Amino acid sequence: MLEARAVMVFYENMLALNNVNITCPENGVIGVFGANSAGKSTLMYALSGIILDIQHKEKMRGGERISLFGEVVHDGEDITKLKAHQRARRGLVLCPERRRLFPESSVAENLSIGGHLASRAQAKETFDFVMELFPALKKLTRRAAGFLSGGEQQMVAIGRALMAQPTMLLLDEPLLGLAPSIQHTVVESIPQIRNERGISVIVTEQYARPVIPYVDYAYIVENGSTVMEGTREELLGNPDIKAAYFGCG
Ligand code: ATP
Repeated sequence: MLEARAVMVFYENMLALNNVNITCPENGVIGVFGANSAGKSTLMYALSGIILDIQHKEKMRGGERISLFGEVVHDGEDITKLKAHQRARRGLVLCPERRRLFPESSVAENLSIGGHLASRAQAKETFDFVMELFPALKKLTRRAAGFLSGGEQQMVAIGRALMAQPTMLLLDEPLLGLAPSIQHTVVESIPQIRNERGISVIVTEQYARPVIPYVDYAYIVENGSTVMEGTREELLGNPDIKAAYFGCG
């Protein structure tokens, strides 16, 4: 189980996350929905520990001051002070917004970079799972990632994160910029990842509609604060929420 408890993040004097509490239970799929700049990536950085790297880098170059408050708790342990690579070893793996692949490396190389900490057997078995999850990648393993379509790149990005053997996958805006037909393929991988690998997923999106059928529970974030939370049914049953966030009032 992963919990954010009263998490606050300031970029200099700008409050990007304000007292955010979220919980993702074991084997859960949780959605975090919110408009541009609502704070979704900041939350993913706080959960994955990347925020500590960003904070450190800014400090080294004499840049803005980033202040963090609150706690991140994983399986009952306070991991607030753990760095991203330490959290990754515990199974918390971020698949970042805008994919961030190595464009000149092949699909197979991008995947094996993700699996550098896995055993050879784990890497092989997970590679096969990724090919089963996204059959479109089978023919593309030698192609440079930079030459793939946005949807294919997203599949590689998810595959790379899976190669790191997560128990909790943090998917930051996986549908960003993708055509609706490809969105469907990407989002359909979420229940497979949960059901076949037992991996919990926290997924953020600007538009909830394509993702809401796949989540158990969701949070709606506005200007850094959680303004609403509930089960999928509760959120879909609320006409105001439905019209404002799901585009299907
Ligand atoms: P998007 O959908 O545009 O990715 P988001 O919900 O992921 O948005 P964040 O990227 O977390 O939102 O940004 C939250 C707020 O914090 C925004 O106002 C953004 O401009 C600001 N912000 C994010 N990163 C930094 C940074 N490194 N320095 C200063 N401000 C930042």
